[in-house]
Amino acid sequence: MKYSKIKTGCIDGFKVENILVEIDINSRSTLQTFKIVGMPSASVLESEKRVISAIRNIGFRVPNGSIVANLSPTSMRKEGSHFDLPIAISLLEASGQIKELNKSFFIFGELGLNGEVRPVPGIALFLMYIKERDQQAKFIIPRGNQGESVFVPKEDVYVIDSLKDIENLSLGIMDCFTPQYEEPVQTPFIVDFQEIRGQTFAKRGMEIAASGFHNVLMRGSPGSGKTMIAKRVPTVLPDMTREEIIESTMIYSVAGYMNTIIDKRPFRAPHHTASTSSIVGGGAIPKPGEISLAHNGVLFMDEFPEYRTDVIESLRQPLEDGEVTITRAKSVANFPAKFMLIASQNPCPCGYYGDKEIECSCSMNQIINYNKKVSGPIMDRIDIRIEVPRVKIEELMSKEDGESSKNIKDRVSRTAEIQIRRQNKLNGKLTNKELKRYAYLEEKAEDFLRKAAISLQLTARSVNRIIKISRTIADSFDSKYIEISHISEALNYRGRKIL
Ligand SMILES: [Zn+2]
Repeated sequence: MKYSKIKTGCIDGFKVENILVEIDINSRSTLQTFKIVGMPSASVLESEKRVISAIRNIGFRVPNGSIVANLSPTSMRKEGSHFDLPIAISLLEASGQIKELNKSFFIFGELGLNGEVRPVPGIALFLMYIKERDQQAKFIIPRGNQGESVFVPKEDVYVIDSLKDIENLSLGIMDCFTPQYEEPVQTPFIVDFQEIRGQTFAKRGMEIAASGFHNVLMRGSPGSGKTMIAKRVPTVLPDMTREEIIESTMIYSVAGYMNTIIDKRPFRAPHHTASTSSIVGGGAIPKPGEISLAHNGVLFMDEFPEYRTDVIESLRQPLEDGEVTITRAKSVANFPAKFMLIASQNPCPCGYYGDKEIECSCSMNQIINYNKKVSGPIMDRIDIRIEVPRVKIEELMSKEDGESSKNIKDRVSRTAEIQIRRQNKLNGKLTNKELKRYAYLEEKAEDFLRKAAISLQLTARSVNRIIKISRTIADSFDSKYIEISHISEALNYRGRKIL
């Protein structure tokens, strides 16, 4: 019997299943055939052609007889071109052309027809998942993916350029196959809050939002700098922890960003014509969408009311749970999606309602409809509402730079630490029940809030939002109790009632 087996894996949502590639060669058969079985998808079936050409072109031979490659367990649908390399190696082993590799290897890689080993999506996820389950696991991966192996010990990973390299590896010549990469550092941002002059109110609002990871809605006329402000929010969020870097890198890896380490907070800004599946994730084999690529960072949705209603509604569950569930006929996938939503919009369709200089050309009905497009349940999850006026000429011309992102980030990080110490999560993620427990309102402040609620006709929900923001403001002053001044600042961020 000519038989061999090699371990590899298959991605199932944001999980990895171990897969065993088995090869059997029946050399008594006079016909030369090659068959892949075990629920391969179309992309895996194509593997046959690549494997045969690659083996021939690097000077090995394709054995005579009937060859069967089985991908086990057979109950699971297999997707991806990374099966090429384990199938080819298993075939070379079964036909006795190379020495058997150590059985602790898990192998991934796509083959070019010339035998070249090409990078594949998902390597970061494969390595982290398999290593966690199996401490003995070692890996052979394409050199084009080597950066993604940074989170597992270097001595357990071998990177190759060509199928030919397997010969040396099987003979124990291994030194030249050690991965080379740089440890993740916090990559510096190319933008800085310093570049924004004026807009003191909006910047302060953003600092509070960043400190508690609160979702934000900015409303203002075109040219008020909403996008400029949003882009700079990741620059003031605390440094990513190692766990966050690993998690984000795995998400990007599955989404097809190869050899990419996410070591600074992501900023994603999908266009308002984007489909639901590109925003929340989807596909026959579910892939993460924009909300997961924004995990640990910022999702910026400019012209918020212009997005399709189903897109906006699909944010509800992720905003609540910090992850998204994608249901398909045969599978359910969960991807992390803990992001800070920054939505922005004009005050009306023409953009100038309430502007001091340019007159609005919309009818009252148009203005009302435009501002009603985003449903109550979504708006309830947006704690901070900021009105952003167009900047006055004097402010734009001022030579004085704004405060640097670094200074703001120092304060944001301190405020975030206080919250983590107290309740192990940021204020923006508190449930109403938890908020009650940690609010600590001073008696005078409670009185003040009650009166404000009556005179401003606040709903119970907006009172809750005010308490939540006040909690973050109090934390920014390292104050255990919420005082009147904190509430009065928070009242500024409830948003102006239109009409
Ligand atoms: Zn208008």
